[in-house]
Amino acid sequence: MSKIRVLPEHLANRIAAGEVVERPASVVKELLENSLDAGADHIEIEVEGGGTRLIRIIDNGEGMDEDDILLCLERHGTSKIASDHDLGAISTLGFRGEALPSIGSVARLVIVSRPEGRELGTRVVADFGRLIKVQETGCPCGTVIEIRNLFGNTPARRKFLRTVRTELGHIEEVVKNYALAAPAITFIIRIDDKETMHLDGGAPLERRLRDIMHYTGNFMEVGKNAPRRAERYVHGLLVPPEASVSASAVLRLFVNGRTIRDRMMTHAAAEGMRGFLMKGRNPAGFLHLHLPVTEVDVNVHPAKHEVRFRNTHDIHEMIRQAVQLSMLELQGSIRTEIFPIPSAKETSAPGDRRPVPALTLIPLESEHARPTPRPLLYPPQRPTEEEMDASTVPAAGSLLATFTQSLQTAEPSPSPEPETQAEHPVRRPNETQGHGLQVIGQFRDLYIFCQSGDGLVVIDQHAAHERLLFEKLRSQFLQGRTASQNLLFPVTVELSLFQARLVEKNSTEIKRLGFAVGEFGGNTYIVSAVPALTGQCDPGKLFMDILEQFGSDTGRTSGASRLEDILADMACKAAVRSGDRLAPAEIDALLTRMARADLFSHCPHGRPVIKHFQAEEIKKWFYRP
Ligand code: ADP
Ligand code: MG
Repeated sequence: MSKIRVLPEHLANRIAAGEVVERPASVVKELLENSLDAGADHIEIEVEGGGTRLIRIIDNGEGMDEDDILLCLERHGTSKIASDHDLGAISTLGFRGEALPSIGSVARLVIVSRPEGRELGTRVVADFGRLIKVQETGCPCGTVIEIRNLFGNTPARRKFLRTVRTELGHIEEVVKNYALAAPAITFIIRIDDKETMHLDGGAPLERRLRDIMHYTGNFMEVGKNAPRRAERYVHGLLVPPEASVSASAVLRLFVNGRTIRDRMMTHAAAEGMRGFLMKGRNPAGFLHLHLPVTEVDVNVHPAKHEVRFRNTHDIHEMIRQAVQLSMLELQGSIRTEIFPIPSAKETSAPGDRRPVPALTLIPLESEHARPTPRPLLYPPQRPTEEEMDASTVPAAGSLLATFTQSLQTAEPSPSPEPETQAEHPVRRPNETQGHGLQVIGQFRDLYIFCQSGDGLVVIDQHAAHERLLFEKLRSQFLQGRTASQNLLFPVTVELSLFQARLVEKNSTEIKRLGFAVGEFGGNTYIVSAVPALTGQCDPGKLFMDILEQFGSDTGRTSGASRLEDILADMACKAAVRSGDRLAPAEIDALLTRMARADLFSHCPHGRPVIKHFQAEEIKKWFYRP
């Protein structure tokens, strides 16, 4: 009995209509999807003349008998859905029953297929939609579909195509996408009789992605510990922040085995890596989202490039957290690589790590009614660290003096963390051995050179300090506990009407950031307190800068991400600078804090903080054996 039915009209009418055969790559996409739906685990793709002369897809899937081959050429002939109900829970890549008739109408189509259990297969030839020949033939199990002279009857569409090279590029993209979406399947591409890609099924996913991206470094695994049988999870491999891939390297997205484009998913991934990518860089690699089929509508776009999620917000958060967790794990591995001694961090198992909650705007006024705080990545600040910030330091005095003081009060021992200490008796690092590095010295009053094991570590002191301050400010802000410092001499600022309105509109956030601002009559406002961590900056200027950011175009950036920008800006202003000579104790204190921080590898603007040269690499510079 044939498996294919022609959909009843009312159901066919519910299917997103539109042209699917734009270019050779769209043909390859539809045919690959059919082969995958047919359960093939070995797929060969042959292309000649950029796809207009020939596209041939050979699979070892379930095949079709003669009736099926004839039915598959009918519009809305499909074996994948049969009822309205099926349309709401699509688990196959195809469901429209339109690809083969559409392709057939603009090309010469040859289908050779044999299902398991049949001795002979069938060969069908159709020319621009007209059936020419049906015959029995000996052939292996599976299906071969051949498309020749694509757009031969529609010269206008053929003229629309780009160069052979461009079209081949698009075809390769499609195959690469499906090769990642279906890692168990073998894919072979032959272009003009030359094998250009051969990906063996079941090889480690990392290898497949490396081959596809032409990248030799390591990946960050997203969703490493997500149970693969869970209903909803995301898995993926991303290129770590400053790995050497081209800035145009893409992030490939999949949902339930389907390759898609989706701005929400892209955005969520970028949010997960927020503060670790330099401006202009985007996450690269792939993310595969697994969801119950009822929670994603694939009947949105005729070429099925887009989907609609039932709960966009939750999915965004799930992806963001998973990506951020992999960022945290990356920090863990950098930590073990760089800081050779067991640090305080190792007292918590990696599984205990939680993503940082997204910055949301909880008005201070409702503080008493605040729900139980959401899980914070950062444990309540230890007094030792509290004493490291500048909150106890008067605003007067140089930046360096502040920094020095703040770091010198660091590390009274032992720090109170009784449960942790009892459970995990690790050596409590003191100020000088808290990082395990051997400090060589400061270079150009900006870079700290250290020996780590037998390697060399170079640290950008400004970027390093900026990240530490940013995390502190952020966590204080999230908890609504930003340490504020009253100014000995409050300053006045003159505001325009627009600026005055900004102060009014954002008064909650401004207060939450640690500022105290009041009207002083007319256009004059008085700043009487600033965030303690920024105590050494010019208070009036700092406030005006912050105000400017509140006033910046909010069209694209959300309020939350603007606040992150503001916090990053404050951290940048408050951090030790290039040109600041640091005393050995200050260097030690900075390194110790880094060794213990959850996030330390990049400044909040994505600039790397650390560069590590392995001994092997250094030897190579000098041609030493
Ligand atoms: P759809 O995939 O949306 O069902 P198509 O026009 O792409 O529509 O294919 C029509 C039908 O032909 C499919 O439902 C499937 O039953 C059958 N078919 C197409 N390609 C193959 C293949 N490579 N192997 C087995 N069956 C196939
Ligand atoms: Mg199909």
